[in-house]
Amino acid sequence: MRIGCHLSISKGFAAMLRVGQELGAEIVQYFPKNPRSYRLKAFDPVQLRKEYEETRELDIVTVAHSPYVTNLSTGDPELRETTIASIVNDLEIADAYGSSGLVIHCGKHVGQGERRGLELMIEAIDEIMQRYEGPTRILLENTAGQGSELGRTVDELLTIHERLSFSNRVGFCFDTCHAFAGGVLDFEHWDEVKSELMREEFRSKVELVHLNDSMMPFGDKKDRHQLLGQGEIGADNLRLFLTSDIFPGVGVVIETPVEKERDYAGEIAIARQWVSV
Ligand SMILES: [Zn+2]
Ligand SMILES: [Zn+2]
Repeated sequence: MRIGCHLSISKGFAAMLRVGQELGAEIVQYFPKNPRSYRLKAFDPVQLRKEYEETRELDIVTVAHSPYVTNLSTGDPELRETTIASIVNDLEIADAYGSSGLVIHCGKHVGQGERRGLELMIEAIDEIMQRYEGPTRILLENTAGQGSELGRTVDELLTIHERLSFSNRVGFCFDTCHAFAGGVLDFEHWDEVKSELMREEFRSKVELVHLNDSMMPFGDKKDRHQLLGQGEIGADNLRLFLTSDIFPGVGVVIETPVEKERDYAGEIAIARQWVSV
């Protein structure tokens, strides 16, 4: 099981991976561009590919994460076009860096109703996959169901997935904080939850785990990450999740509120210790 964390790419891809190596990360997630904006980033694919080739010896797998502001379900035609172009840009950058996937949060219907929100989200992903045909995969992340966020439950994620035109190029990212705050990861009913997550049609599509503790209590539907073992999920439950072999072989990325990037070394060590005992 590859364990790693989210890092900043602001000093460049190679510098980011060297930090990752020092922290003990075997997988690193990054934002291909400013996470608070849709603005397209100009890049030279040859240069990015070179950076990727030069860092392969580090044996660190990378995944990208689309900007926070992204709403796949937006009903505004102009914003929709901006969003689609932004994600295609993210995919192209991620592709050039040899990253296997781009994590995208499921959409928010913001008053349009769930059904319309889902429709718009599916159409947007179809459009993105028509414009981008490379190997980097879209990984739809489960949400905490905050506000009008879609994609909270296993069933909802599967419903979205089965309606996609290019579903073979889309997988899931499972975030423990979102699932806990969203009322899905219920450790009081662990056996049932575990078999729900292990339904073959879901399990086979999960390609990444985000391992985070939650500042908010179970079912609160608020997305606030906490340091591993210091939140409402707690060390015992996170360890139980991690050692239950629910998503075997899937990379684990930690995105907890560390003060400095260096502090991820401790978070990675905690997670690694959980899986080693
Ligand atoms: Zn996440
Ligand atoms: Zn989150």
